[in-house]
Amino acid sequence: MTIVEDAQKGIITDEMKIVAKNERLDPEFIRRGIAAGRIVIPTSPYREVKICGIGEGTMTKVNASIGVSSDIVDVDMEIKKAQAAEAAGADTLMELGTGGDFLAIRKKVIDSISLSVGSVPLYQAFIEAARKYGSIVHMTEDELFKATEDQAKLGTNFMAIHTGINNITMDRLKAHGRYGGLCSRGGAFMTSWMLHNEKENPLYENFDYLIEILKEHEVVLSTGNGMRAGAVHNATDRAQIQELIINSELADKAHKQGLQVIVEGPGHVPLDQIATNVKLMKEMSGHKPFYMLGPLVTDIAPGYDHIVTAIGASVSAAYGCDFLCYVTPAEHLALPNLEDVVTGVKTSKIAAHVGDMVKYPERAKQWDLDMGRARRDLNWEKMYSLAIDPGHAREVRTSRAPEDSDVCTMCGNYCALKIVNQNYNLAK
Ligand code: SF4
Repeated sequence: MTIVEDAQKGIITDEMKIVAKNERLDPEFIRRGIAAGRIVIPTSPYREVKICGIGEGTMTKVNASIGVSSDIVDVDMEIKKAQAAEAAGADTLMELGTGGDFLAIRKKVIDSISLSVGSVPLYQAFIEAARKYGSIVHMTEDELFKATEDQAKLGTNFMAIHTGINNITMDRLKAHGRYGGLCSRGGAFMTSWMLHNEKENPLYENFDYLIEILKEHEVVLSTGNGMRAGAVHNATDRAQIQELIINSELADKAHKQGLQVIVEGPGHVPLDQIATNVKLMKEMSGHKPFYMLGPLVTDIAPGYDHIVTAIGASVSAAYGCDFLCYVTPAEHLALPNLEDVVTGVKTSKIAAHVGDMVKYPERAKQWDLDMGRARRDLNWEKMYSLAIDPGHAREVRTSRAPEDSDVCTMCGNYCALKIVNQNYNLAK
């Protein structure tokens, strides 16, 4: 029996109890959320994972993506990145390598961390076809499903699968064109394969078989966003919405068969379209957990896209997005290094919290209240302990240490907080 089937039968599992405790919610609330498809808890029969609930009512979660590329295959470095992402506070990790030995690398990454791990199995199928036959377009349908099953057996907890690209989606994409092309690797592979072979997407056409595989290995389906444009000018276009309609229908179908499902959203969305996108995703998918890739709210800041994303991610979370894929400063420039990964995680964690302050103020705002009081009282140890990155906060202050240890070198002797504390009481 899957966790969805347990929930629908009224059973509260250990995983639901853990999520309820972590989120300070009633276990019955979590059970009902899973039964209705509004919450997922990635697990696996093959490995113990840190339990984490994603969806309505739970705090916004952050995913970090790592993985070798065809240019840089340094497996030890990817393992370091995975571990650094977990230490920095990522809630899940996606291993999205496109080079080297797919299964061996993923196994090493999975074994190195306790987070739920996600993947995009079609990368393996298409890239192995390119190695074997000289082009991605020669991949066979069997190879696609075999790669999915092989990755599931490794203990992969969730998979982004590009189910929503079908012939209608393709027609919309071609008829309407794009300013910013298509920046989803999965979308690029699948659309090219469909056009070359003049065939329907096997993941769409054989969706029941896909459900069977995922269900057998308890993998959460994340319906992939293959129509992702690389420009804010294409946000909410016909191809994106067409794919969302298909994915929403398939998400319903999969959930009815007992599978946990997440629906992926776009990656480049201007600020004034975020609310629309979140509402559309939520309404069309029947309030399935919504996974936003970023989003980037402007295209003009390469090198600073973690900041661009934090703006979009905080607004997305405030409007109801449940799950954020981080973006690093290296976005659209290079394979992220270790520092980029840590920066990306920290920045998205801040964005998630800012969104939660609006979405779930009773639970999220206490943290800020505690920090405000510690700041008023010039209680530096408390401030460090409450900081999202305690080590960094301590390092900045001590690198420019004040003469008076109560204050910091910004105002020194004229610390506004100290002056007020010495002259009257504002404590609340
Ligand atoms: S010195 Fe100025 S910046 Fe530093 S804690 Fe006091 S008021 Fe804040």
